[in-house]
Amino acid sequence: MKNKIPYGRQEVVQADIDAVTKVLRSDFLTQGDVVPQFEIAISDKCNARYGIAVNSATSALHIACLALGVQKGDEVWTSPNSFVASANCAIYCGANVDFVDIDLETYNISIKKLREKLASAAIIGKLPKVVIPVHFSGQSCDMFEIYQLSKQYGFKILEDASHGIGGSYMGKKIGSCEFSDITVFSFHPVKIITTGEGGMAVTNDENLNHSMRLFRSHGISSSKEEMFSRPNSEIWNYQQICLGFNYRMTDIQAALGLSQLNRIDEIVKTRNALAEKYNDMFSSLNIVTPKIELSCHSSFHLYVIQLCFEKIKATQREIFDRLHKAGIMVNLHYIPIYLQPYYSSLGFNRGYCENAEYYYSRTLSIPIYPGLTQAQQTRVIDEITKAIK
Ligand SMILES: *Cc1c(COP(=O)(O)O)cnc(C)c1O
Repeated sequence: MKNKIPYGRQEVVQADIDAVTKVLRSDFLTQGDVVPQFEIAISDKCNARYGIAVNSATSALHIACLALGVQKGDEVWTSPNSFVASANCAIYCGANVDFVDIDLETYNISIKKLREKLASAAIIGKLPKVVIPVHFSGQSCDMFEIYQLSKQYGFKILEDASHGIGGSYMGKKIGSCEFSDITVFSFHPVKIITTGEGGMAVTNDENLNHSMRLFRSHGISSSKEEMFSRPNSEIWNYQQICLGFNYRMTDIQAALGLSQLNRIDEIVKTRNALAEKYNDMFSSLNIVTPKIELSCHSSFHLYVIQLCFEKIKATQREIFDRLHKAGIMVNLHYIPIYLQPYYSSLGFNRGYCENAEYYYSRTLSIPIYPGLTQAQQTRVIDEITKAIK
């Protein structure tokens, strides 16, 4: 049996291990000064004013929704072609989730569909409070257009850039929040850089920053201005002023993230080089390769191939099975969120977003990560060529 090649994998080097070890030998495993260092480093890297480190992107999405005031009865819209967390965060706040179908070239939210859906929602008075565009595979959505629509219809924008750190849009880093209120990153091991589990919200808004920090840590404040009803002369004084959570990142994780961040440009470059090689090798096969808009530089978290079943005899399942048998652990990103049993139970049916379903029935995510060797990539290409014959 040949070695298995996963679709994604972290890259941990000696410098990462040394950085983590240093924290393990220090006084503070959590609530030390490495987390703030990591927050500053990430926000600097993507040109945002504030960074709030948390224990996952899911937590970041949750506190972002809370800070944006999402509550019971509100509408929140996102892409069906995403991980369930992009939608769950709104449900945590008691809101209703709805889905905007995708564009079949970029696999991101379709601006045309968004525009149409907003126009109809305006008529029935069900406009969203927040729209969560997802930068699928590391390519930014058309944020300028979404921003224009947000001004017209009065919604907030929360970018789910779990795939997207290291990418850019119109020459601006993803995370600069030029066209949004908050952007969220994930540091899960399959993502661009990792902290094991971890995430971060970035924003340019001081109030959102403050409010997300409160929600991250139990809703507890120790700032004089916020405390009431007890003498604030007591130096140990702190007060819980709202209902928050323990979503904190540890300094152990932050040390790993900081060390990984040193290599992010190199990592994104390697991912792009791997993508280019795939583009070249697949150009003569019955495969549609990812389309990257001129305004975008993708971090290539995922490399998705679309199989032209009009010309291929095998089914998607057969190709998936053949590749897995050959040790090429391709994956499928994503099952449209609303087809998950939980979302079906909320009333969503098959056919709701036809592009997302069409996409889902024709694509596979194939291995792409910094440690993928040339020999392994050649093996992936050979096996895919064979599997679709
Ligand atoms: C991975 C991912 C998340 C969740 O990230 P965690 O850090 O695992 O919580 C959310 N949204 C998208 C699009 C993701 O890919």
